[in-house]
Amino acid sequence: MTELNAGSATDVGRRRSINQDMVLVSDRIFAVADGMGGHQGGEVASLAAVEALRDAFRDLPTMDGLVEAVRAANSAVEARARSSADLRNMGTTLTVVALLDEAEDDLLAIANIGDSRAYLLRNGELSQLTQDHSVPQELLRQGQLSEAEAAVDPRRNILTRVLGASFGDGPDVQNLIPYTGDRLLLCSDGLYNEVDDADIARVLRTVDDPTAAAQNLVDQANANGGADNISVVIVDVLDDEGRAATASAVLADAPQTGRSERPGAERRGANRLMTTDERNEELRGLSRPKASPPAAMRSDSWERNEAPNVHAEPERRITVRVVGFILILLLVLGVAAGAVGVYARGSYFVGLEEGRVAIFKGRPGGLLWFSPTVEELTPLTEASVPPERAAAVAEGHQVATLGEARAYVRALGPTPGAGGAADAGTTTSAPDTTVAPATTAVAPAAP
Ligand code: MN
Repeated sequence: MTELNAGSATDVGRRRSINQDMVLVSDRIFAVADGMGGHQGGEVASLAAVEALRDAFRDLPTMDGLVEAVRAANSAVEARARSSADLRNMGTTLTVVALLDEAEDDLLAIANIGDSRAYLLRNGELSQLTQDHSVPQELLRQGQLSEAEAAVDPRRNILTRVLGASFGDGPDVQNLIPYTGDRLLLCSDGLYNEVDDADIARVLRTVDDPTAAAQNLVDQANANGGADNISVVIVDVLDDEGRAATASAVLADAPQTGRSERPGAERRGANRLMTTDERNEELRGLSRPKASPPAAMRSDSWERNEAPNVHAEPERRITVRVVGFILILLLVLGVAAGAVGVYARGSYFVGLEEGRVAIFKGRPGGLLWFSPTVEELTPLTEASVPPERAAAVAEGHQVATLGEARAYVRALGPTPGAGGAADAGTTTSAPDTTVAPATTAVAPAAP
């Protein structure tokens, strides 16, 4: 069984009076929830969501079970919101890593709704696994904004999907084959708005203990301003049942076996960003009261997150593969064309050319673009061919060599005792003298 070890840290930050984030560290399910809503709403929402998630997933630790557990969390938040006027507009993000049961190959499943994130550190490289459900991110996915525009869009704090207030299409769900040494990071925006990816990666690479690493990241966020609540969960893969030992490069690149809940939500490379489907629904915003981090800081982390992973690497890989494929294809076609040419032109046949028996080089009727050519025109006419050979000659009697063709022609002609018959029968040198006896030779056989 896959073995995990996790640690977490959460902090109110330096500007807020209460911590509305909530972390969940359980035996096989881990989550960060970032609550929002006036008064105490955010706290209530994030706690209700995490508790409902944990309880529901315990009953059904499968991919379907995880989706159901997120729905249950949404229902729990909605129910609490209806219970009090003060809580009416509350909501919460939810980002989850869960270990599926053995029937589902011990896969890790990742679900997210809102703008809390999941990252993966694998082989020392950090990649973002989730996409934020924010207005500029949705517009980016629909092609209405460029990455640069989305990075500085003032609506980036407006979330399009959260539990409670705006469930919409629900969570994005993906799965991940865990390998020993993998390190997953779940965090609220209070971390990634304050600490850039390079610094996050450095801590994940250098601080082994997950609790200590989580605390280190929280401390850095506070040192950089701590404008929001900060929550971090780190999940380490300690044992992958020997997968890492047996995994080849091919396996690492192959499509993963697990299911994706949403069309288009398939993960190809283990370290690459997943692409979710393009949503065309009307954007419904949920305003989020929080201090905006400096635009430059967000812009920096955005560029680092998106650009190298989404575009540069896949295109380079495709180009190399396409060029290699074309070279191999050309080579194969060249060899095949040569082989066909040798086959098409490498033999002879005896056939008819405008009423005369002729020796052709090539194949009767030709082959592809290789047409037969007349090698020698004999003095024999069609009418002089013995009846039992007429059909064969009409079709073209194939032989391997020119010598065999000449011998066949000789056999077609009259069988004169004259020693010069061989020459006469195979060349155009004396047509009249050989045609005449041939005609007479055929005549007696006719009746
Ligand atoms: Mn937050």
